[in-house]
Amino acid sequence: MNIHEYQAKGLLRAAGVPVSDGRVVLRAEEAKSAAGELDGPLWVVKAQIHAGGRGKGSFKEASAGEKGGVRLAKSVAEAEEHAKQMLGRTLVTHQTGPAGKQVNRIYIEDGSEIERELYLALLVDRVTSRISFVVSTEGGMDIEEVAASTPEKILSFSIDPATGIQGFHGRRVAFALGLEGKQVKQCVDLVGKLYKLFTERDAEMVEINPLIVTDKGDLKCLDAKMGFDSNSLYRQSDILALRDETEEDAKELAASKYDLNYIALDGEIGCMVNGAGLAMATMDIIKLYGAEPANFLDVGGGATKEKVTEAFKIITSDPNVKGILVNIFGGIMRCDIIAEGVIAAVREVGLEVPLVVRLEGTNVDLGKQIINESGLNVIAADNLSDAAEKIVKAVKG
Ligand code: GDP
Ligand code: MN
Repeated sequence: MNIHEYQAKGLLRAAGVPVSDGRVVLRAEEAKSAAGELDGPLWVVKAQIHAGGRGKGSFKEASAGEKGGVRLAKSVAEAEEHAKQMLGRTLVTHQTGPAGKQVNRIYIEDGSEIERELYLALLVDRVTSRISFVVSTEGGMDIEEVAASTPEKILSFSIDPATGIQGFHGRRVAFALGLEGKQVKQCVDLVGKLYKLFTERDAEMVEINPLIVTDKGDLKCLDAKMGFDSNSLYRQSDILALRDETEEDAKELAASKYDLNYIALDGEIGCMVNGAGLAMATMDIIKLYGAEPANFLDVGGGATKEKVTEAFKIITSDPNVKGILVNIFGGIMRCDIIAEGVIAAVREVGLEVPLVVRLEGTNVDLGKQIINESGLNVIAADNLSDAAEKIVKAVKG
């Protein structure tokens, strides 16, 4: 689960990490008083969406020369004007995709004078199974770009969970970032506090880009992105309270309510599969036959009729879906139960696109019989490649 920048900064502030003073604004009328509470002489007006690259992003239907989602202002009036201009508009960045994201919240911050822009992130490194610090002197810009063109400028260190964070980790980060004097001590302090926050709050990712050196020579977090392990939200109620469902894919949100493992993708073939491995194989074989999956969906081992119906509703609510492939291996789950679920779902939801069903495993013959006798326009398939070939043919002709 991701949170907004202003929420992440609230957590950083509470952990004693240096961030600027700021106010969140939900309604245009609040912008003036929010900006007025900050000292100036510089204000930063920042669109709050769950995506990066806001500064370089652009609004839909922007007027000529209009700035992106992070704007500097020299007065309260100017800050207010920017906030009013951004609220309710759709911001497109390289991370939102072409559809963009509607800006419903604005963060107005006390502006900083920047000497240097650095990059600092913490994440769970799957290779070492440890928390890693990823740092670079090339902050402020797109880190993917740095990774592609000058990968030697990105350094990472992992932390041994048995020892936890130590002073030398912080000094190593400071050295890698070219910090000097009082900044080294500030860096050791920052690194320790970020690690503590990360582990205590079950974070998956904390990205500070840029971490700046101010004109006074101090370190400060100017941007903050945080993601948390959804499996631990049961014990992180105050993190869960920060959830903004309007930022999440509506289909993924509905799926999470029914405990379906669903990820929206941008292809044309909707997939309903049991088991994550089989779902991955199904997506691969769809691609092999020349089409693209519209989603990843694992209905799980205990798929009930209700879950199958819900999964169908989610798949068919995606306007990109031009065909559906159901690929179920009946192991714990029996094929006849799945077949009944699929048919009930089709009867309830309706079906406007071709549907190919491939069943295998326990009670497969009964399952196929139920599908064949349903009177519904379902194309039966014998095996995985047959199924993929049939659905791609049905969609592409
Ligand atoms: P992002 O584009 O979504 O990553 O948003 P950021 O919060 O990183 O802001 C983008 C850029 O705006 C930063 O890299 C800075 O160059 C600039 N910026 C943000 N806040 C300030 C500030 O307080 N003062 C100045 N001078 N520039 C800022
Ligand atoms: Mn940033």
